[in-house]
Amino acid sequence: MDITRKRILVSGGAGFIGSHLCERLLREGNEVLCLDNFFTGAKSNVVHLLNDPYFELIRHDVTEPFLAEVDQIYNLACPASPLHYQYNAIKTIKTSVMGAIHMLGLAKRTHARILQASTSEIYGNPTVHPQEENYWGNVNPIGIRSCYDEGKRCAETLFMDYHRQHQVDIKIVRIFNTYGPRMHPQDGRVVSNFVVQALQGGDITIYGDGTQTRSFQYVDDLVDGMIKMMASDDFIGPVNMGNPHEFTILQLAEKVIELTNSTSKIKFMPLPMDDPKQRQPDIGLAKEVLDWTPTIQLEKGLLNTIAYFRKLIHTSGYPYTS
Ligand code: NAD
Ligand code: UDP
Repeated sequence: MDITRKRILVSGGAGFIGSHLCERLLREGNEVLCLDNFFTGAKSNVVHLLNDPYFELIRHDVTEPFLAEVDQIYNLACPASPLHYQYNAIKTIKTSVMGAIHMLGLAKRTHARILQASTSEIYGNPTVHPQEENYWGNVNPIGIRSCYDEGKRCAETLFMDYHRQHQVDIKIVRIFNTYGPRMHPQDGRVVSNFVVQALQGGDITIYGDGTQTRSFQYVDDLVDGMIKMMASDDFIGPVNMGNPHEFTILQLAEKVIELTNSTSKIKFMPLPMDDPKQRQPDIGLAKEVLDWTPTIQLEKGLLNTIAYFRKLIHTSGYPYTS
């Protein structure tokens, strides 16, 4: 038996971020158990890993308990795009809350270290800018985003309570808008929507007047940060992970049109309810404690993402509409 090789469970491992994380963990010499119900993820995201003898793909829904012997758990299972998490809101909140309980139970029994993929959404529509970890947020508990925001807030509470009550070795990372290859083409999030629209020459759909802001983090930077967080011994978080460079949605649309050389025109559409007006992480804590800072700037990350979607559209041969 190889005792240096860690056995690591990644729930939501066939999704966008999860597939990059599985790939990286395997590359670093670990054994990876990828758990997914394929709601928003796909086998195609991890098909290139299936020949690796240290990779295991398991169809499983985290709202049900799961038994295995593991050393570490990354809990990523949860739809992340507003379109998908609102599709079955009750299932979304069950996934966050029951999924956290089941993964924490597994961590408690196996003494595994467990990391929660939390979100900037726990700050809601923030009244403090940029958002630091000690800000408690401004969340509507009864709106259409609540199934996700409140589900993730409750998951953080569960993580802290399992830590205080049962000494479970936890980590909480609050992820800000992340993009890159393997986002679902119909995911509904802004980067994939704009890139797919621009590549197909369709209208670029800006919700509202485009003055709302987001800060976009490339997926490789996030994976680096999550691995650093998992490796840290005393620090449990919560810690923000995002790229602090803030852009308006209109600036993003213009950048995507420029980089794709597209003939697409911008179309303004109604702003969804509770859509946060501004979002920018304060990443001082991650810099100080983990010596982590994102390195991939928007233009470079967008070019990689555009290349991915260009190939996908070319090989699949049919149009994607958001
Ligand atoms: P994604 O939708 O691509 O991945 C989520 C994965 O979880 C999918 O593979 C999906 O099939 C799986 N899943 C959903 N419900 C499940 C269930 N009940 N049981 C088992 N598997 C289930 O989204 P992503 O962007 O890769 O997000 C991954 C995690 O990171 C999520 O927890 C999300 O909340 C968090 N996050 C992402 C972002 C971002 O910008 N991408 C920002 C903040 C937080
Ligand atoms: N958005 C947009 N057009 C789209 C998709 C999203 O203008 O086709 C806007 C959306 O209203 C929000 C921002 O882009 O203001 C980021 O949306 P996304 O769904 O990517 O993430 P989140 O709102 O969760 O930050």
